[in-house]
Amino acid sequence: MYSAELQFRIIGDTSYAAAETAIRVYLEALIFQGQILGREFPTAFQQEQFVSRVVLPEKNALQAAYHSQSGHKALQALQQAGLSYPKVLIMGIDLMSNHTDPCEQPDSYILYCRFAQMNSVLYCAEHFAPVPLYLLGMQTGFEDLIRWQLQYQALDEIQMQQHSVLLKPAERALQSFRSTVNVQGRQFAKRLRAHTGKPVYYALYRGVSADCSLETSRCCPGCGGPWLQDEPWHDLFDFRCDSCQLVSNIAWQCQG
Ligand SMILES: [Zn+2]
Ligand SMILES: [Zn+2]
Repeated sequence: MYSAELQFRIIGDTSYAAAETAIRVYLEALIFQGQILGREFPTAFQQEQFVSRVVLPEKNALQAAYHSQSGHKALQALQQAGLSYPKVLIMGIDLMSNHTDPCEQPDSYILYCRFAQMNSVLYCAEHFAPVPLYLLGMQTGFEDLIRWQLQYQALDEIQMQQHSVLLKPAERALQSFRSTVNVQGRQFAKRLRAHTGKPVYYALYRGVSADCSLETSRCCPGCGGPWLQDEPWHDLFDFRCDSCQLVSNIAWQCQG
């Protein structure tokens, strides 16, 4: 991923409030199309321009062809607010994020989410590297998927805290096959399957187990069939069911 600066030059009459709104709406459209990553976008006023700091999945992530409908609209609104189209300045490779998938078109995907990763939740199943969402060519954007990601990450962050006040509810929500967050997650996987025509595995998190001695004899929660692998897939997924397109891990509590 790349660290970049977006420069919005002042080219007409504007006010601080109008410019701020237009930039915020534009950045939001980019977030919900997966064109910029993360949650914080420091924006500064410098003489004749506004400058926002962003992280991009690829150098060319902001080209207009990748924009959603709201992205195109927000781009026009910048001009109405007296600002230029943004100029993108690539600062370098972002050291805090992982590398984007190299495939032009992956053969299959894994929908996987953890709190520490701000990248796309859609991974190439071959390289286990994140695939930028805008590459899927959906003009309507991914607002609901990215809002789901934020909720999943919030739950994950809570259950990672050792003395969390909400440990059990958060843990249950992430682990349970039928929790709202996982039902929604599997619906997203299903929709992406229909859109791409490719398998999209859903990664079911497993942190704790009531009995570690039974952990490897768990069955697939989708079909009840055996799903333990000889070797974990991507060093992470000990379980995999191809007919349900589900993967999971041996509970972290039972490992090592
Ligand atoms: Zn790949
Ligand atoms: Zn199954």
